[in-house]
Amino acid sequence: MAVDLAPSPDVAEVARRTATFIREVVIPVEERHRGVVRSEDVRWQLQQAAKQAGIFAPHVAREYGGLGLDLLGRAAVFEEAGYSLLGPLALNVAAPDEGNMHLLEAVATGEQKERYLRPLAAGEVRSCFAMTEPAPGAGSDPSALSTRATRVDEGWRIDGRKWFITGADGAGFAICMARTSGRPGEAGGATMFLVDAGNPGMKTVRHIDTLDESLYGGHVELVFDDCVVGADAVLGEVDQGFRHAQVRLGPARMTHCMRWLGIARRAQDIAVARAAERRLFGSRLGELGMVQQMIADNEIDIAASRGLILRACWELDRKESASQSTAIAKTFCAEAIWRVVDRAVQICGALGISGDVLLSRYLREVRPFRIYDGPSETHRWAIARRVLRRHDARAAR
Ligand SMILES: Cc1cc2nc3c(=O)[nH]c(=O)nc-3n(C[C@H](O)[C@H](O)[C@H](O)COP(=O)(O)OP(=O)(O)OC[C@H]3O[C@@H](n4cnc5c(N)ncnc54)[C@H](O)[C@@H]3O)c2cc1C
Repeated sequence: MAVDLAPSPDVAEVARRTATFIREVVIPVEERHRGVVRSEDVRWQLQQAAKQAGIFAPHVAREYGGLGLDLLGRAAVFEEAGYSLLGPLALNVAAPDEGNMHLLEAVATGEQKERYLRPLAAGEVRSCFAMTEPAPGAGSDPSALSTRATRVDEGWRIDGRKWFITGADGAGFAICMARTSGRPGEAGGATMFLVDAGNPGMKTVRHIDTLDESLYGGHVELVFDDCVVGADAVLGEVDQGFRHAQVRLGPARMTHCMRWLGIARRAQDIAVARAAERRLFGSRLGELGMVQQMIADNEIDIAASRGLILRACWELDRKESASQSTAIAKTFCAEAIWRVVDRAVQICGALGISGDVLLSRYLREVRPFRIYDGPSETHRWAIARRVLRRHDARAAR
């Protein structure tokens, strides 16, 4: 079957405008803040500029103020946005908000869309997605989910502990995954709840000190203690939380890959510029064979990552399950992007370790990607199991 992965002229134009916007508007702010912004004023200014440039919230339906791009379209635009650590924030396509918008568009009721999706899509509020729990709770294995929601007269009461909840500080609401039936270790039985900021039962315990720092709002530990929400806080259907989360998971993995691919390209550009100008041992750095190998391997990793992303997005846009292609792309990209940034540091020598270029910041930011959205080992395990199932099915015929 013919697979056409080329962006339409309209999408290519949005991607071009995004690339220009990132270079002219966002990178100067990124350099001033060393890639880490914690100011609502800066977020607001960047988002206003993106709105004026006509590239804001490109993934959201036009009805909610976006450009309505499908996943293949997002691949072209998000990669350009990701060329700066602050690009995704400016375009309102940063994690976890972007994935939450996608989920709300697919699963929320009309009323929930007005209350949560519309202000989120406009950048008026931020959000977080609260799934992971400290051991022995949910992590790589979601069935270990132990936060519990029980029915009460007012609706539901949620009790449990979550950690590594990105963007929770300052978020207008959380999407919290809690168990409504079954026991930890059993499959199914989860429900997603919309919990408003200011609910006295949802408390921030601490900001977790982490290797990475650029994701807005940081990573937070939250406690749900007698957290009462109305029956209308259920997102999707009761006990169908894991099924609904699949709507978010595959695309969110790909959009992370797209954004970090932008940073990999940026790292390569910094390294190539250095290799072109630095002279040693009587030649340009870039004329030394081992440096050429690193430059070439970076190009190969970038091209292969993009190819795998596009293939998985093509399947997702066709409403195929895409579990295997998203797992393959996520695993490869997370590792390839790390390799690219690491080689870029090596090419730049001590300069790459210094704060004079942002490479060491990028290195810290891309490392956790091999853990979140499913660690590489979990994905490899799932990929291999699917391959064996396919073998068994063929053998049984
Ligand atoms: C920067 C960052 C941001 C995050 N943001 C969020 C967020 O916003 N919301 C949220 O809910 N969670 C978030 N997380 C949590 C993330 O989803 C979990 O860290 C991830 O699911 C892994 O769970 P865990 O940390 O409990 O590791 P564990 O489940 O304890 O796994 C530890 C290790 O076991 C290995 N492993 C896993 N599966 C297998 C297997 N099948 N075979 C062999 N080895 C295996 C892997 O090496 C893995 O790293 C974030 C994490 C990070 C680091």
